Amino acid sequence: MLLPVRSVPALHSADSSIFTLRYFARCMACTFCHDSCCQYGCDVNVGERDRILAVKDELAPFVRAPVDQWFKPQVFEDPEYPTGKYVRSGVVDGACVFLSRDGRGCSIHRFALATGRDYHDVKPMVCWLFPVCWDKGVLRPNSDVTDDLQCAGAGQSLYRSSREEIRKVFGSELIAELDVHAQQFER
Ligand code: SF4
Ligand code: SF4
Repeated sequence: MLLPVRSVPALHSADSSIFTLRYFARCMACTFCHDSCCQYGCDVNVGERDRILAVKDELAPFVRAPVDQWFKPQVFEDPEYPTGKYVRSGVVDGACVFLSRDGRGCSIHRFALATGRDYHDVKPMVCWLFPVCWDKGVLRPNSDVTDDLQCAGAGQSLYRSSREEIRKVFGSELIAELDVHAQQFER
């Protein structure tokens, strides 16, 4: 079911399943998922790619492969991304190149915490907005959640777990609207 929303130019609707689908959410406490959500790599808009490369010398010790493997060369067009273009992160040994060397957690996130940075400034937005995403103006579950996410079904609703990240991208007016819908669907 698509619920109309009006306060954010980039969105016209929210998929009600963000209120009803659940996932484990406490990622670093999870003992069974093996970071399956990171197995395919991620979209990185070219502005984010450039911000990551700007700190490559500091970040490199955290990453499992050399800089030339961090991003695939193909550039895709997508007007819904802030820069209108995105690339894919590299995939090494069956996981995103940025999955930490010890196999748990994102090395970009770890780098941000270790160096006193806000992870929002360096980690790809699709990753910190997970498990929700937006597509053609609709805020909806990331397809990983509906396809094969190992931790799907347990824990909080997608909306509850990502509410503050949604606010960061789309603003408080949208949160006020979504909170009203959430009360209806989360009874
Ligand atoms: S699979 Fe689930 S619990 Fe594991 S890291 Fe991904 S979102 Fe977190
Ligand atoms: S950038 Fe980090 S969070 Fe995103 S897919 Fe890669 S390892 Fe996972």
